[in-house]
Amino acid sequence: MQKKVVAIIGWGAAGMMTAASLLTHETNAEIHIFEKNSKLWAKVLISGGGRCNVTTWLRDKKTLLTKYIHGSKFLGSHALKVFSPKKCFDWFQGQWVPLKVEDDLRVFPVSNDGKDIVWVFEKLFHQHHVDIHFNEGVDSISLRHGPIVCNDGCPREKNFLIVTNKSMYQADYLVVTTGGNAYAHTGSTGDGYSFAATCGHTITPLGPSLNSFLSKESWPENISGVSFPQASVSTTLSDGTVKKETWPILFTHFGITWPAIFALSAHMSQEKVSKKEPATICINIDAHKSFEQREKEIFSLMQQHEKKELKTVLWLLLPKRFVETLLHIADISPIVQAAHVSKEQRKQLAHLLSWKLSLTLIARRPGDEFVTSWGVSLDEVNPSTMESQRCSGLYFAWEILNIDGVTWWFNLQSSWATWWVAGKSIAKNN
Ligand SMILES: Cc1cc2nc3c(=O)[nH]c(=O)nc-3n(C[C@H](O)[C@H](O)[C@H](O)COP(=O)(O)OP(=O)(O)OC[C@H]3O[C@@H](n4cnc5c(N)ncnc54)[C@H](O)[C@@H]3O)c2cc1C
Repeated sequence: MQKKVVAIIGWGAAGMMTAASLLTHETNAEIHIFEKNSKLWAKVLISGGGRCNVTTWLRDKKTLLTKYIHGSKFLGSHALKVFSPKKCFDWFQGQWVPLKVEDDLRVFPVSNDGKDIVWVFEKLFHQHHVDIHFNEGVDSISLRHGPIVCNDGCPREKNFLIVTNKSMYQADYLVVTTGGNAYAHTGSTGDGYSFAATCGHTITPLGPSLNSFLSKESWPENISGVSFPQASVSTTLSDGTVKKETWPILFTHFGITWPAIFALSAHMSQEKVSKKEPATICINIDAHKSFEQREKEIFSLMQQHEKKELKTVLWLLLPKRFVETLLHIADISPIVQAAHVSKEQRKQLAHLLSWKLSLTLIARRPGDEFVTSWGVSLDEVNPSTMESQRCSGLYFAWEILNIDGVTWWFNLQSSWATWWVAGKSIAKNN
């Protein structure tokens, strides 16, 4: 039987897993991976701070699906059923990479070294003689228009013609795993979007996601390094929808960052955020405390320490530098005696600690986003196979598609899942 020729563009998480899935489900395939970099897997190696956050330990399917801003229905209908976080965990352990679960349910290699994950694929591809074309960027792709004389000198008919910076190739199946256009220095420069458009696909307007923001106010600089582990942040989008996220936040010299902000940024990927059109976020520094609880807490401390200066009393509750900023915003003297703080001032402080603290966002931090939100329209891709509904034999998944996670923790899981499905589907086709 003639081998089916599968061309995969991009040696990222998605490209690797497609090839691995294909090899698991079928042996009669000639696989070529084209990667424009000379280095392996730049993004997977930097994910999770170099430790590679392989997947999540979250087991409840419904909750898991809420972690995807776009594409949760698409993922939930098939990919995350057949390659669930549990299956993913077992698959990597079955490939001799011991994994561990951290308190926040993120899963990492026990070694804390992302290279162990890369090794799984390197080993597999070495065993199966997968042809990896490093330093070979794909310049264009086109659909078959009759027999073509290819790099091996033989005239053949295949579905796709692939033109690289070195040669020309034909393939029966084409898998586009070029990622988005975030962290472009790793090679993800958005080339796949034009390949998809060539084959008749619609690309929704792209937007950065999982990024930090610059603030108009300068006070975050004074508390740079102060973080709150259980903060809630909220914003009202231009269509009037209110979005709220609860995760840690960190104030920095430029504004605000960390998971709650990344999560909010995912909702804001299509919002204009600029000096002319700023966005406002409201902050509750501790999601577990209401205004009433805060007021009670402050009142009780002031009664106990009525002779002390206000700032000293608040230090019992909050980081020192934050107290200074808080009192500055509230325009209350830090050295006023607790007994002399008025009821209104007490209420004002309680309000600022629970939702009345706001920041004006004037820009996304340039080049900071972890992923590209939106992409190839999901209506045009079969969720059970990842095959294009516009062009038979063409497959897409993960970041190039209109799917993205609410924090970066869930991205790789879906990357593996969608490509597991794609590889399996190509294997089934004859
Ligand atoms: C700093 C950072 C940290 C992250 N941390 C996490 C985390 O902790 N957990 C998590 O789940 N996710 C994390 N992510 C997100 C996750 O890493 C990505 O969503 C995922 O790696 C994307 O995989 P991909 O295979 O779709 O694309 P990519 O990894 O972007 O791979 C695409 C590949 O295609 C190649 N390519 C592009 N165009 C061409 C072309 N024309 N010809 C040939 N090759 C081409 C590129 O060189 C690249 O190697 C992080 C991302 C970043 C940037």
